[in-house]
Amino acid sequence: QELSAKDYVQGVYETVVKRNPHESEFHQAVKEILESLVPVIAKHPKYMENGILERMVEPERMITFRVPWVDDQGIVNVNRGFRVQFNSAIGPFKGGLRFHPSVNASIIKFLGFEQTFKNSLTGQPIGGGKGGSDFDPKGKSEGEVMRFTQSFMTELSKYIGPDTDVPAGDIGVGAREIGYMFGQYKRIRGGNEAGVLTGKGLLYGGSLARTEATGYGAVYFVNEMLKSKGLSFDGSTVVVSGSGNVSIYAIQKAVQLGAKVVACSDSNGYVYDKDGINLETVRRLKEVERKRISEYVNEHPDAVYFEGCQDIWTIPCDIALPCATQNEIDDVSARRLVANGVIAIGEGANMPSTLEAIDIFLNADVLFGPAKAANAGGVAVSALEMAQNSMRYSWSFHEVDDKLHEIMKNIYRNSVNAAEEYGHPGNLVVGANIAGFLKVADTMLAHGII
Ligand code: GLU
Repeated sequence: QELSAKDYVQGVYETVVKRNPHESEFHQAVKEILESLVPVIAKHPKYMENGILERMVEPERMITFRVPWVDDQGIVNVNRGFRVQFNSAIGPFKGGLRFHPSVNASIIKFLGFEQTFKNSLTGQPIGGGKGGSDFDPKGKSEGEVMRFTQSFMTELSKYIGPDTDVPAGDIGVGAREIGYMFGQYKRIRGGNEAGVLTGKGLLYGGSLARTEATGYGAVYFVNEMLKSKGLSFDGSTVVVSGSGNVSIYAIQKAVQLGAKVVACSDSNGYVYDKDGINLETVRRLKEVERKRISEYVNEHPDAVYFEGCQDIWTIPCDIALPCATQNEIDDVSARRLVANGVIAIGEGANMPSTLEAIDIFLNADVLFGPAKAANAGGVAVSALEMAQNSMRYSWSFHEVDDKLHEIMKNIYRNSVNAAEEYGHPGNLVVGANIAGFLKVADTMLAHGII
């Protein structure tokens, strides 16, 4: 049975590669999940008989569109917009929008595919989607960002709605962009459909603790892993890559739990501050002034700036929180982290470790919190934002944070249990993939062949 399950999974993978040529990130995400599912397929042939995997790897809908906008010089620019509506079995499509020059069909599909399993893991009624554009916000004026974002939403508005598809932020899309998009959507559609976007400002339907949720959630998750070994953040040395929304609140929570965070980065390089990164400086530089992290050392002369972001993983640490972007930890970085005695990895970014890096961590018995589980706090609180919008009511910061904490503990427990049940005790990659899969798969069975 293991054998025919393996053959089935291999066949599905080959179809994905053939049907989506040159989409290496999408292939990578599919490969990891499919391989985890072999013991599930072997035990329950019904998933194979009903073509569950063939259906899961094919998005329900992939929308590609033109985004024209005029820059400050009066020149017409054209970017490409995407929205993948991957799987709506358990709820409306849900997932962020990424504005970054690297965005293409492969990146959007890998993110949308992962999102489906992550959203299922949260226990909230949300399906999987993702979108974005190859627009580069870096160096653009306020006016350019606004015009681009409005043009993007003019087209996207045809495909989304509070009960169909609910976008949010991701890399390059924060409170400012969500605000412009919400304004444009409201203007086009009329009425005030608060639940059409999440990550909104607090003035117009946003949820308290949504900004903090991904970073806090990642630290809550890692804390559960540490607790299982009688360890904690207290007194630990932590390296956090990135300096965006996820990183900032991961740093804040890790410090609250007694850790010293000695480094963070952006796409140009990283800063090492042996006394602990000053979070207020990072926040001001990145959130208010929108400057490079290299500026940090002007205010903290004891800190050192290094050009190039990859070498951040050569800094010895107990806990590594990759919160920047996909494939930021390769096999070389993973080996270095292990050699330097890393105890735990918590993936705040989406797919920050390559398949080879994950193998190295698991073989070295490093506690490894995969992205789908560890960074699910952001989208989990997005679902809570939708719930509050539907009720036309707001919970306090404390209420939302408590719910987030509970959700992260549940994700941890469900992943541990699934890994155990299907013969891979302690392997949270397999556990998270299986636990996320089962809810979507069983719902798809219940709905028939659609
Ligand atoms: N972009 C985030 C993620 O990768 C959040 C998505 C959301 O809140 O919908 O999960």
